Amino acid sequence: MGAALALALRGAGLAVGLFEARAPQAARSDPRPVALSHGSRLILERLGVWERLEPATPIERIHVSQRGGFGRVEMNASEVGLPALGYVVDYGQLAVALDCALEGEGGCAVTRATVGSVSGAAEFAVAQFDAGRGPEKASARLVAVADGGTLFAEQTRTRDYRQTVVTTRVASAIPHRNVAYERFTPEGPLALLPAGDRIALVWTTTPERAQQLCEAPEAEFLERLQRAFGDRLGVFSQAGPRTRYPVVMKVADRLAAPRIVAVGNAAQTLHPVAGQGLNLGLRDAWELAESLPRLSRDEIGGRAHLLAYARRRRLDRGGGVNFTDALVRLFSNDVAPLRLARGVGLAALGAVPPARDFLVRRMTFGTRG
Ligand SMILES: Cc1cc2nc3c(=O)[nH]c(=O)nc-3n(C[C@H](O)[C@H](O)[C@H](O)COP(=O)(O)OP(=O)(O)OC[C@H]3O[C@@H](n4cnc5c(N)ncnc54)[C@H](O)[C@@H]3O)c2cc1C
Repeated sequence: MGAALALALRGAGLAVGLFEARAPQAARSDPRPVALSHGSRLILERLGVWERLEPATPIERIHVSQRGGFGRVEMNASEVGLPALGYVVDYGQLAVALDCALEGEGGCAVTRATVGSVSGAAEFAVAQFDAGRGPEKASARLVAVADGGTLFAEQTRTRDYRQTVVTTRVASAIPHRNVAYERFTPEGPLALLPAGDRIALVWTTTPERAQQLCEAPEAEFLERLQRAFGDRLGVFSQAGPRTRYPVVMKVADRLAAPRIVAVGNAAQTLHPVAGQGLNLGLRDAWELAESLPRLSRDEIGGRAHLLAYARRRRLDRGGGVNFTDALVRLFSNDVAPLRLARGVGLAALGAVPPARDFLVRRMTFGTRG
């Protein structure tokens, strides 16, 4: 999110520097599939990043169901007047596209360095970093922490869902036709996303089961997938390499400290269900950048500025956090009355177009929808 913020600040007349621990191109190997909302596409277009992505796969329809229970809901891009409900890209591809856009920019000094700590005071914040020459310091009116969630620990709430996500890509006998499937199972949600001519899997389950899924021979893995998802996409084949990610929710109750503000996962790390984290983080970066040019040099990073920014982000952040947390807790169990209530809820959502459209717009644009 640091790179997105730096790009959004182009032309703002500010001296912007970015510290990035990762070597150029190193993110390319991160295989996690991410679903970008239509709102994120608009932001990435304005940042000059969208055209650098290999063609993203549009999601034209989303199909939500629960295993072992009735009720399902379908959302269509055409019904809400959007070209697509979202777009599937590789996280690594997006990170490299952001890096390249920044390199071509020239307006931002990128230092390949690990930041060890950030501390704020009345006038400036100071970041301690190591770029391979020993410890160094840099100071600024405002430091935005976008490290994914380690450096900024202001009153953080955490929830360990005791779940792990397994990602991979598979082929299916029936083409995906740009439909994304979200299937809730008692161990966690299973998402199948259209990704080129293949299917990208984001399979949440218990940590023990995730380990088994990663270690299982390909045929056994595919058989387990078939059992969990059913035959809506025909027979699965050709599983790619499998990768595991632990899942926790980590939310900073206060977004800011003197001269310091958190964006992206540093502000809120969410469960990947419903693909909200990166989309929310892009809106963090965009709105922070929008708030800066209106201010004088002295006002930037001051108490009034950061309070106003935190206030502006409260509804969108709260919506994303509560929505994903409620989904996981409501659906990741096998309690019969809850299964029934979920079925009724899904059926009702499916039958009431305005409620469904509201949900789609919220997921697409956040509270600006
Ligand atoms: C399996 C999975 C699937 C997901 N699917 C989706 C999805 O479909 N849609 C969606 O919106 N979100 C999704 N997410 C969430 C999304 O990946 C995150 O919300 C997003 O990557 C957060 O971006 P970030 O820049 O805040 O943090 P990160 O992506 O973690 O990036 C942090 C950056 O900071 C750098 N850094 C870290 N520490 C330091 C340091 N000390 N000094 C200098 N640099 C440092 C890192 O090198 C990195 O470049 C998914 C997550 C997972 C795990």
